[in-house]
Amino acid sequence: MTHVLDGNAIGDRIRNDLAECIETLAAADVRPGLATVLMSEDPASETYVSMKQQACEEIGIRGVHREIDPDAPAKALFERIDELNDDPDVHGFLVQMPVPDHVDERRVLRRVDPHKDVDGFHPENVGLLVAGHARFKPATPHGIQKLLEAADVDTEGKDAVVVGRSDIVGKPMANLLIQKSPGGNATTTVCHSRTDDLGEKTREADIVIAAAGYPELVDGSMIKEGATVIDVGVNRVEADTEKGYKLVGDVEFESAREKASAITPVPGGVGPMTITMLLYNTVKAASIQSGVSVDLP
Ligand code: NDP
Repeated sequence: MTHVLDGNAIGDRIRNDLAECIETLAAADVRPGLATVLMSEDPASETYVSMKQQACEEIGIRGVHREIDPDAPAKALFERIDELNDDPDVHGFLVQMPVPDHVDERRVLRRVDPHKDVDGFHPENVGLLVAGHARFKPATPHGIQKLLEAADVDTEGKDAVVVGRSDIVGKPMANLLIQKSPGGNATTTVCHSRTDDLGEKTREADIVIAAAGYPELVDGSMIKEGATVIDVGVNRVEADTEKGYKLVGDVEFESAREKASAITPVPGGVGPMTITMLLYNTVKAASIQSGVSVDLP
């Protein structure tokens, strides 16, 4: 029987534990605050920030949202970032990517106070993660670690293949898997668009994590019997539905499910974990900044 990992249920359990942390902070008069900054009119980005704000409201985190005209000069964004860096009620914040072309994304990431960088993308936080002392683990790979843990998939000594080497998913995922700590200790291979024979690599893996942004790239013939398959991809493909499209992952679910011992669906797998772990980092930031200790899940 293949175990279909329910990201909604696992995410809800973590959110319940986080709600207890928020109560502990409230007892000390601390209310975690998360700000989102949007400099874009891209509907997907608008949806992402509104989902993050809604999640804050549901759990009792103070949500703050700032919008900047996408045609404004980069200086307008940097000034907002400086304000949030200085605001003691905002414990964490993020600038929703992508920013307009005239704004240098790397300068944006560096401008955020690393103690408030709940996305974990500031070079200081990337360095801490690589060194094995993560302050804020990026939400998606951290969520995947929690999914694996909840499914009793021990990564130690396993062969893991990560498909994708982006700064937000592939690289931090691989870095977490190689750490000498729980959720790590895996022998990890990172594949990308120049990988010669992807199937040859994935067929060797006990754990496959697909984050390529390419619809149904990994099918059952590329999966070893009994492997764990984590599908990060969210791709719109044309379909005969009301909206004219449907969402599919980077894994061909039905054929992969026949081989896998555990697999995540799309939607309902990794997606719900990502926002949960952003809330986690916000609670952690509030705890560190206030000096009030909490029992993080
Ligand atoms: P990027 O486009 O930044 O990176 C994709 C990576 O996949 C690149 O490293 C690229 O290689 C590699 N790749 C692309 N095509 C292939 C291929 N045919 N074979 C092997 N490798 C390939 O994407 P992200 O990492 O930002 O996101 C990946 C997917 O995950 C997307 O579908 C995205 O929507 C989804 N996502 C989902 C989240 C969630 O919460 N569920 C959160 C974040 C992302 P190269 O470097 O050589 O170009």
